[in-house]
Amino acid sequence: MRLILFGPPGAGKGTQASKIAENYVAAHISTGDMLRSAVKNGTELGTLAKSYMDKGELVPDDVIIGIIKDRIKEEDAKKGFMLDGFPRTIAQADALNDMLAAENESIDIVVSIEVNDQEIIGRILERAKIEGRKDDTEDVVKNRLSVYRNQTEPLKTYYQSAGVLAEVDGMGTIDEVFERIKTVLNEVKQ
Ligand code: AMP
Repeated sequence: MRLILFGPPGAGKGTQASKIAENYVAAHISTGDMLRSAVKNGTELGTLAKSYMDKGELVPDDVIIGIIKDRIKEEDAKKGFMLDGFPRTIAQADALNDMLAAENESIDIVVSIEVNDQEIIGRILERAKIEGRKDDTEDVVKNRLSVYRNQTEPLKTYYQSAGVLAEVDGMGTIDEVFERIKTVLNEVKQ
């Protein structure tokens, strides 16, 4: 199965992604995790990405598209994958379609986790206290949300038109949300 896990920052994508990876797909591809690890290792990519991440801005499309292109060619992603945090712009989604079409493949499902703004800000600030992520301060969080609404949310219409969008209520406990996701994924051909 090739799936995209979609939703605003703080929607619980990371948590749900781990549960989905255990039960449905081998390769969990998180662009945020890949970038954070590049930053930590002080690579050229990390240095470039950090300046955008610290402000809550998106890393340029060509950079992120290059990373995904290489990653989905790896062995563990051949039979299926879950993209977490990618695509975030229409240009990224178009590039992904082209990459998959070249292999006669396509996205099976886009699971969009729906959470309201007030809840999101509360959750992210709480996470900031626990994990100490640099991009979790209130100003940066608000910027990340507005970047999400302006640049990323339009992808819902994009995938709805493609007939692969499934919206899931992200309010409630981790297990409640996962049950809803399971219901949606069980309807997709494996
Ligand atoms: P995340 O952990 O998915 O919230 O990503 C953290 C940060 O990494 C984002 O705020 C962006 O700066 C950057 N990032 C992650 N994925 C992407 C992407 N697909 N396109 C551009 N920037 C990204």
